[in-house]
Amino acid sequence: MVENTAAPLRIVQLYPRDMNIYGDWGNTLTLKRRAERHGLAVEIVDHNPGDPWPEHAELFVGGGGQDSGQFRVAEDLQAVAPRLLDAVERGVPMLAICGLYQLFGRSFRTGAGETLPGIGIFDLETVGGTERLIGNIVTESPELGTIVGYENHSGLTHLGAGQEPLATVVSGAGNNGEDGTEGARTRNVLGSYLHGSLLPKNPRVADFLLSRALELRGQSLPAAPLDDTLAERARDVAASRPR
Ligand code: GLN
Repeated sequence: MVENTAAPLRIVQLYPRDMNIYGDWGNTLTLKRRAERHGLAVEIVDHNPGDPWPEHAELFVGGGGQDSGQFRVAEDLQAVAPRLLDAVERGVPMLAICGLYQLFGRSFRTGAGETLPGIGIFDLETVGGTERLIGNIVTESPELGTIVGYENHSGLTHLGAGQEPLATVVSGAGNNGEDGTEGARTRNVLGSYLHGSLLPKNPRVADFLLSRALELRGQSLPAAPLDDTLAERARDVAASRPR
């Protein structure tokens, strides 16, 4: 067990009011439950537009949303961008899903032709397409193994030349349905189109985020693995039924 003498691990949920779709809040819940099973106390702080900036965040997580939700958070996101970018540089782990993932890039042009600026954590651009990419998706990450989930987006994302993807598509569409990439990774920030929610069926991704947060405290996850039989079975079933 991690020695539980430190303050609770401070997880900030970005924009739960506007950016929380297809069960994305399950990611926050999974991080909390896994941290607790690892012997860590956790504090979850919500950040919605206009809220004071939550200081001392150790992990950020945020979900997808409709275009309208993205418009509601875009201005606040620009305002807090310098703090988020500073946290990225310090190695603070983050998970951004779908709509927030798009806004962590350089820009998002909606199908209606309006452009929202992103905050440039990732070198990528998204343009709203005419059809939605919907269904189960199976991907493979060199570091995190098989990652499964569910995607539902019209935005087509293209990575800049030097931008690392999170994973390669095995079945499904991913970033744009063409180049076989899914998501993006910069330092300890993971962006992904995968809902489902992502973390319950992909506990390795959850532990990646938790362990990077602990590293910044000079700690590490306990060596004893958690019993992930159920999660792994769910992942394997999902992976064996490509769409
Ligand atoms: N509005 C974005 C799109 O459709 C994001 C959707 C989502 O977060 N599920 O591309």
